[in-house]
Amino acid sequence: MKVFVPNRYYESIYDIDYDKLKKEGIKVLLFDLDNTLALISEGKPPKKVLDFINYLSNDFDIYIVSNNNYDRIEEFCRPFGVPFVHFALKPLAKGFKEVKKKGHYKKNEMVIIGDQLMTDIFGGNRFKCYTILVDPLGKKDLKVTYFNRFLENLIIKRLSKKGKLERGKYYE
Ligand SMILES: [Mg+2]
Repeated sequence: MKVFVPNRYYESIYDIDYDKLKKEGIKVLLFDLDNTLALISEGKPPKKVLDFINYLSNDFDIYIVSNNNYDRIEEFCRPFGVPFVHFALKPLAKGFKEVKKKGHYKKNEMVIIGDQLMTDIFGGNRFKCYTILVDPLGKKDLKVTYFNRFLENLIIKRLSKKGKLERGKYYE
């Protein structure tokens, strides 16, 4: 069950303590796309996200790492000019490995920030990089996510009984 517990948990990407991450030696932020940076219905990044990612890129390398297809990610990432990995196969290591190789990062310099326990957090913990969970931006998920959410709810139920993770109880 430990592999499902994120290192930190915040309401959204805007609540994360990035200064702290920087001080701890994090060099690269891997952002999930759907329901982390934007709603699944948002083809282009909202201005708020665009400005925020640009601001963060002063201090960190940034990658968008998504299990979604090339067209979705490419269209979304075009205005940023940030690199991305599509079809990342989270929770498998493929996407994480790709970023690690591209930037010659160490695992302890990498953090995955995402809204799903079954892909982002489980994947990051297995890969042994830093993991940050955020609440999903919207209630609507991709169809492929429905089953993961079902499992996620079961896991959160168990974890909350043990006092390890509870929806809305943020920690760092
Ligand atoms: Mg997501």
